[in-house]
Amino acid sequence: MVVSSTPARGGTAGPPGRRRRGEGQWAVGHREPLNPNERMKVDDDPLNVRARIESIYAHRGFASIDPADLRGRFRWWGLYTQRKPGIDGGRTAVLEPHELEDEYFMLRIRIDGGQLDLAQLRTIAEISQRYARDTADITDRQNIQLHWVRIEDVPTIWRELEAVGLQTTEACGDCPRVVMGSPVAGVAEAELLDPSPALDEIVRRYIGNKDFSNLPRKFKTSISWLADVPYEANDVAFLGVEHPEHGPGFDVWVGGGLSTNPMLAERLGVWVPLADVPDLWAGVVGIFRDYGYRRLRNRARLKFLVADWGVERFREVLEKEYLGRTLLDGPAPELPDRPLDHLGVHRQRDGRNFVGATPVVGRISGSQLAELADVVAEHGSDRIRLTPYQKLVVLNVPPERTESLVAALRGIGLEARPSAWRRGTMACTGIEFCKLAIVETKARGEELVARLEERLRDFDADISIHINGCPNACARTQVADIGLKGQLVPGPDGRQVEGFQVHLGGGLGMAQGQTAGFGRKLRGLKTTAEELPAYVERLARRYLADRQPGE
Ligand code: SF4
Repeated sequence: MVVSSTPARGGTAGPPGRRRRGEGQWAVGHREPLNPNERMKVDDDPLNVRARIESIYAHRGFASIDPADLRGRFRWWGLYTQRKPGIDGGRTAVLEPHELEDEYFMLRIRIDGGQLDLAQLRTIAEISQRYARDTADITDRQNIQLHWVRIEDVPTIWRELEAVGLQTTEACGDCPRVVMGSPVAGVAEAELLDPSPALDEIVRRYIGNKDFSNLPRKFKTSISWLADVPYEANDVAFLGVEHPEHGPGFDVWVGGGLSTNPMLAERLGVWVPLADVPDLWAGVVGIFRDYGYRRLRNRARLKFLVADWGVERFREVLEKEYLGRTLLDGPAPELPDRPLDHLGVHRQRDGRNFVGATPVVGRISGSQLAELADVVAEHGSDRIRLTPYQKLVVLNVPPERTESLVAALRGIGLEARPSAWRRGTMACTGIEFCKLAIVETKARGEELVARLEERLRDFDADISIHINGCPNACARTQVADIGLKGQLVPGPDGRQVEGFQVHLGGGLGMAQGQTAGFGRKLRGLKTTAEELPAYVERLARRYLADRQPGE
């Protein structure tokens, strides 16, 4: 691949004829000046920090950690300092990072494809109980996050995770994050081609690889036959499609990302066979590394480059400069008319069942994970998967053990036949642990689900409610029926209190005629956090009263 000091064909970012300020693209020779994030990565490859954690910081303690490692490179190993308890959301924007941070860490375990066997599940459960005060959250990218982790324990945790094939490598940071995959890959009746070999190969070849450890910002991937992951929200997504001549393969989408300036991924219009997925993935990441915008952090996601270039030009650069060959045109995949969350009991193609179940807003505990491992083993299964909707799926359940499993899961707080409220509500980490948060999310979500289950138990429509603690949209504010963005709002007495800006009517993964899109941010549509349950209840009652037949 080319990293040239002269402008390359793909190298100008804006419309022809208009001179634009450099965007910090390596491939067009912009290496300096560097913003602090870029400087940190150039000064030392962030992957190198692991050696310092193992040889210095874990022995000398929190106070010994170099700030550039603590607030920068640690992320490449899944470590973020967590928020000091008791700091309200009004002070998030005014305090310095060191004033907000505690001496404990959030540790994100990357679980590519959400795939866990029983040994892995038991190991996470034990680590959570021993080193993380029994915390464990399922994230909306199929990871598990632990909290209250001390730097002294991190090397031991790595050893225990790695002994069962798990890792925290590049779970955060400006690098390729966890690869999302279908929670039912390899077992679903409707799946024509299991993408797991491509997913495994990408992780094997490229995660922890210094060719891709300094990207302009985070890079998100999904690979699935079914449209059961939020593929439009990824930097690159591979979605199953059958080519009329070449058979099953993958349709490729690029440039999705939510957060600020949300954009949905666009189709490149190509078809790739399973064996070519890792190379094509590496080509897209290579473009991002070399042509991605590094000057301003808020323009550094791949979506901005795709928006400026357009997909035709992106495809051309990919083919000519990175792959050295032309890609085949491909058909568009068929999309479901509603997101697939896999809750409930479903038949696998081998005649056994899979069972999807949900905690409330992704919150579980190490003890619950240990109980889950026992329940799963007792029912003849050996595998679970995490989903991008903060849920989990138990695979390979013998039909005659299925109802007993559903009851046993309910007994440990995991519901396979949940109310619409429990099913559709997600929440990000929020003010309990996140340094960027303005409002509480998990506890608010639990309270919301409890109230709505009590007052509107028989609500019979699908509804998604995504609760976010700040504008960063980690729980995908913009693509929910009711998207909630944490901010301060005027309370009853006029003083600023925790609350939410409301986005209504977003969606992902919609079939033709019901195009995926973002909820509308309705100016003035805000609620205090206190009022949230009553607010959503009013909205739901109005919907029930006014809906048309079949709606
Ligand atoms: Fe933290 Fe904001 Fe992301 Fe929630 S949306 S986890 S508060 S950064």
